[in-house]
Amino acid sequence: MSYRGNGNGISHPSTNGHEPAHYAMLKEKIAILKRERNAVILAHNYQEGAIQDVADFVGDSLGLARSAQKTEAEIILFCGVHFMAETAAMLCPDKTVLIPDLAAGCSLADMIVPEQIRSWRSKHPDGVVVCYINTSAAVKAECDWCVTSTNGLKVIEHIPSEREILFVPDYYLGSYLKAKTKRKIHLWKGYCPAHAAILPEQVDRLREKHPDAEFLMHPECGCTTKQMHLADQVLSTEGMVQYAARSNAKEFIVATETGILHRMRQQNPEKQFYPASEHATCHHMQRNTLEKAFLSLVKLEHVVTVAPAIAERALRPIQRMLEIV
Ligand code: SF4
Repeated sequence: MSYRGNGNGISHPSTNGHEPAHYAMLKEKIAILKRERNAVILAHNYQEGAIQDVADFVGDSLGLARSAQKTEAEIILFCGVHFMAETAAMLCPDKTVLIPDLAAGCSLADMIVPEQIRSWRSKHPDGVVVCYINTSAAVKAECDWCVTSTNGLKVIEHIPSEREILFVPDYYLGSYLKAKTKRKIHLWKGYCPAHAAILPEQVDRLREKHPDAEFLMHPECGCTTKQMHLADQVLSTEGMVQYAARSNAKEFIVATETGILHRMRQQNPEKQFYPASEHATCHHMQRNTLEKAFLSLVKLEHVVTVAPAIAERALRPIQRMLEIV
């Protein structure tokens, strides 16, 4: 997670040089609004560069959840997708959580509903259900543990070895955890379309073209099971950002949503970053724009809340995760 300490949000100009002319003015207005509203902006690594520039914190799901817990601001403008804003709303019931676009959902999270977990439990009464953080609050309410791609191994290792596990909803992250832990894990067949756009053949071509580049892979990638052994590093988004900064390599092939390249290039201007696929973009993440973030702060919309009865149960797997990692 990166902390943009000066808080004015305008000291990290986009490195792509293609921002619309009015963005500079919008960034200044957002900085003023943040102060007036006592608001903090949390942005996911996949958000467009201009949003990352105005954010107080940029990071992955886990880092953002932690930032939400720590902030003293009254308003959290959550520039990410809906399940992330729900998590912040549950962790910070006394704060107002806003999202720039209410339709910024998650195709992966939509691949499982609470009834499906209840059905699995009825057939596996001693089973343990572990959900990726990319799930709705209603699904989390049915689960025992929550994980992110940063801490999945740690959480699975925490579960007694004789218990069988259902992992939802990401098949590829689940496969990675199953291979690493050698545990009996039932895999849900959900996937992220943005990561599924990264094909093994594309990665092979890039590796041939850039033989000195390190290959960094997110475990959600559809090519994980076939190419995991080829990856120099299988990392969460935050892990990728940190690894790129400390590695001596000068070139990297990055297999995850392309929004992450903004921060990597900004922090390492002397290094080269190649997306494993230019098509690995999340249309949900891209629904949030700098204009919508600005309007969110002006109008104090769209407020994200979770019904108390769901929040009480959904917080349990999240809190258990946060206690051990
Ligand atoms: S990149 Fe994939 S997993 Fe992440 S929010 Fe978009 S659809 Fe969901």
